[in-house]
Amino acid sequence: MQLTVISITAMPFPLAYTASMTTFSKADRIAWLQGPSGHCDVVPDGSSAPWMLVLLGAPGVGKGTQAALLHERLGSCHLSTGDVFRHAGTRPECDQSPAMREAMAYMLRGELVPDSTVWELVRERKACLHCRGGFILDGFPRTVPQARALTVLFESLNITPDAVINMDIDESEVVNRLGNRLACTNCGRIFNAVTDHLKSGAPCPACGGQLSVRDDDKPETVRKRLHVYRSTTMPVKDYYEQLGLLKNVHASGDIEHINDAILRILRAD
Ligand code: AMP
Repeated sequence: MQLTVISITAMPFPLAYTASMTTFSKADRIAWLQGPSGHCDVVPDGSSAPWMLVLLGAPGVGKGTQAALLHERLGSCHLSTGDVFRHAGTRPECDQSPAMREAMAYMLRGELVPDSTVWELVRERKACLHCRGGFILDGFPRTVPQARALTVLFESLNITPDAVINMDIDESEVVNRLGNRLACTNCGRIFNAVTDHLKSGAPCPACGGQLSVRDDDKPETVRKRLHVYRSTTMPVKDYYEQLGLLKNVHASGDIEHINDAILRILRAD
């Protein structure tokens, strides 16, 4: 299997935004967010070969933002496992399965959700991986067992991803970014308190909802997430490197420039 790995950071439900970004379609991943009960309204025509990408990187590196931009530019669907958990959290408690409630508790503590739960969630959404629109996986795989299971799933579906991209950044920059991250409690869009000149409690520039710091972006939880990343998720990079598939992108600086660098890697392959 030919797989290139791209590593970047995460974006919350529904999509990664900055104040300066334009909007993009979000009706194309309901099947991913809701699972087997969801049907996408927008089905890609499949007229060109869809891009199939995996993004890796520390929390806060900008994976979600880059996945959203790649979705705009390449059309592939942004499939984030973190978004599935956050989406479940917006549903009435009686609609949440015990496994999903347990998953959200792990998330709020800054811990990884157990492999078996995440795997079940991905497995029941496997149709999204062979959708004609392609995919950009964000936040999965996060452990070596998840990566191995994904390889087997890809093989069973006869899928050959185009790339696995690893977004690299200094940890101090990650701490800074997550510390300044604000999310809209209504539309889920993400802003940076410093660069977008906003603060917690202010109205969302996009929808007027209220901006707040995500529970898992609070300082203690961020420290825990970074520790978990170093001990459990970094070996996933090695897994793809050993397969000769890892592509590294320096993920510091201007969002558009980082995206251009990713696109250059994809075009060069
Ligand atoms: P993210 O938005 O990707 O940062 O994910 C938010 C949280 O969801 C993580 O901190 C984990 O608690 C959980 N999560 C998302 N994806 C995974 C995964 N592949 N494996 C384990 N936990 C996950």
